[in-house]
Amino acid sequence: MKKPIEIANRVAALLSRKDGRPGILMDICKQVAEGLKAEVASLYVSERDSYRLVANFGFESVHVGKLEIEKGLGLIHHIATTARALCLREATSHPAFYYVKGIGEEKYHGFAGVPILRRGKAIGVLDVQFRREHDCTLEDVALLETVAQQISDTVYARLKKKTAPRRVKMRVTGRGVVPGIFAGKVVRRLLIEETMAADEEGAGQGYEREKRRLHEAHRRTQQYFDSLRGQTTNHEASTILAAHLTMLNDPMLLRKEDDLLKKNCSAEQAVALAVREIAKAFEGISDPYIRQRSMDVLDVGRRLYHMLTQSDEQGPGSEGPQVYLARHPSATMLIEGGTARFGALVLVEESLYGHVIILAKSMGVPTVVITSQQLKALEDADHLLVDGELGTLYIDPSEILVENYRKSHAEENLPQEDLGPCRTADGHAILLGMNAAFPREVQNLPPWVQEVGLFRTEFIYFLSDHIPTESEQAAQYVKIFQAAGNRPVTLRILDVGGDKCPPAMQFLHEDNPILGNRSIRFLLKRSDLFFPQLKAMLRAQHETQGNLRILIPMVSIYEEVSRIRDHLAKVLRDFRKEDLRLKAPELGVMVEVPSAVGLIGKLARLVDFYSVGTNDLIQYYMASDRNNSRVSYLCRWHHPALLMLLSEISRACRRANREVNICGEMAGEMWGSLVLLGLGFRRLSMDRKTLARHHRLFKH
Ligand code: PEP
Ligand code: MG
Repeated sequence: MKKPIEIANRVAALLSRKDGRPGILMDICKQVAEGLKAEVASLYVSERDSYRLVANFGFESVHVGKLEIEKGLGLIHHIATTARALCLREATSHPAFYYVKGIGEEKYHGFAGVPILRRGKAIGVLDVQFRREHDCTLEDVALLETVAQQISDTVYARLKKKTAPRRVKMRVTGRGVVPGIFAGKVVRRLLIEETMAADEEGAGQGYEREKRRLHEAHRRTQQYFDSLRGQTTNHEASTILAAHLTMLNDPMLLRKEDDLLKKNCSAEQAVALAVREIAKAFEGISDPYIRQRSMDVLDVGRRLYHMLTQSDEQGPGSEGPQVYLARHPSATMLIEGGTARFGALVLVEESLYGHVIILAKSMGVPTVVITSQQLKALEDADHLLVDGELGTLYIDPSEILVENYRKSHAEENLPQEDLGPCRTADGHAILLGMNAAFPREVQNLPPWVQEVGLFRTEFIYFLSDHIPTESEQAAQYVKIFQAAGNRPVTLRILDVGGDKCPPAMQFLHEDNPILGNRSIRFLLKRSDLFFPQLKAMLRAQHETQGNLRILIPMVSIYEEVSRIRDHLAKVLRDFRKEDLRLKAPELGVMVEVPSAVGLIGKLARLVDFYSVGTNDLIQYYMASDRNNSRVSYLCRWHHPALLMLLSEISRACRRANREVNICGEMAGEMWGSLVLLGLGFRRLSMDRKTLARHHRLFKH
């Protein structure tokens, strides 16, 4: 039999594989069965009314994913509800045994099963079955429990995936108190008992002994605060530590501790009870300044406590910065851990955090304060995207949301003065535009940014846990037009599906999504979504007298564009019925599916301009997923075949006498933009962070 440690290591290795193969849980069942010399190993997850077999070794594979055992019956239910392991020499002898017909269970006798726990609740069961009567040893059960613990996150992720179409809370908006953006894993410290237990039974071992211990803890805490103060260059931190030192030697604290020691408490109990009592008294005071002392007292108390127990206070680990979700945050821990450990703070309930917030501000740690009510929505969050300015917390955000959020906040100072137009060395004018996904990126555009060349409207959907209404969308577009003034603003029609699924559109998930029902293919089937978006764009344009251009993504056939033209005409007619005579916007097509290249000439009858989405164009032309690092060597613009294609696009647009813009990332790359100019493109649109660099390069 393999050693348990060997099996646990194999399971860990399987889980660490990043390829997300669906068969991982099956492989794990196989490892477990072989390790315990069992004929069967099964993994069940708890669903609403049943336990579903999601992985197995030993049964016929047809049962996996299909077999459901009704809740209320059987050994699996027994283990899940008791949340305890169960070992049976003969399974049929147990009163809860329930024979599942059709999978050959009658052949098995020995049985052992353990719950898969998450936060104390069983989310599934892992079991093994033996053909013979068999007594599992304690070591066998320990192995099952170890594996159950190892796979708990994976099973949970799977459960979450299954329930994704349900409306779940995707974000919480609290009060942003320190601006900044951070996304990371959540570490929770919500109960004071987690950092300082006071209710342990162990009483003191004599007054003199405990007093000596406490005295020593005070001395070492004093030393610790002194040395931290000596190391920090942060003025706020230094002031806080000075206040902590005063608090440490406060006669009231010393007296209370001593009284408790006299009542035969241990030094630990004396500290915990004394500081909690003082903290409580501070909390009851109406003056907010004095009230916040309660946090400082607790912080000092915890240091003393950890000196006594020789333990470290549990905060964010050493594996890089994390989001610290706390009710009683520790200023000292923040000073000590710094931004290497604290990526963001989420604090529960206001008014007590004066010092911590000042400190977070001085360290630039984005911070949001939420209510206890809002905390409930974060119960299951593993990761958070924290926007310390808006106070928004995105729960388990997708990578794409995080990436774009980060991009939009990349502090890129755009020189405001007009340094003259951009030109090629031989005098051809170059038009620089900005790509944006959030209205605030468009704020403060300097004169040399000549247009919003691409606004990806899908991010308005990403920021919402419901599908934004026409007026909600219009309000966002108004902001863009207002910021852009009379510059052209190219709003791209909703481009969802593929790798972009907003929270309220999880139904878009499908097999092979990059080639599937994405973007306008989807939208043309959903006029209930399409018309409100067109109307919102037109209303916002009308309200602001903005310069709207509408861009159609993912065009692959002529009919898609003609249908959208018809839709646009209808919306304009409908407005006319309301007595609103709206200016017809320019309409453009994205050239990002290879078939669109061949249609440029013909489509010129229907559209005013083209915009080349090199990101998707490369992906589809080279048949290599733009998000798969293993084929990224194919997904680059340098390949001659692609350059020929771009050259063909440039010539076709000229022949069609239509403007063409490049809005894919190639335009924002230094060499990419030069190559594009060489191929005859003159209108480049790029992310805010690369704009200034290009302006410097091209201004003459
Ligand atoms: C592109 O495909 O090049 C493009 C600009 O669109 P997106 O990156 O949003 O798909
Ligand atoms: Mg695209």
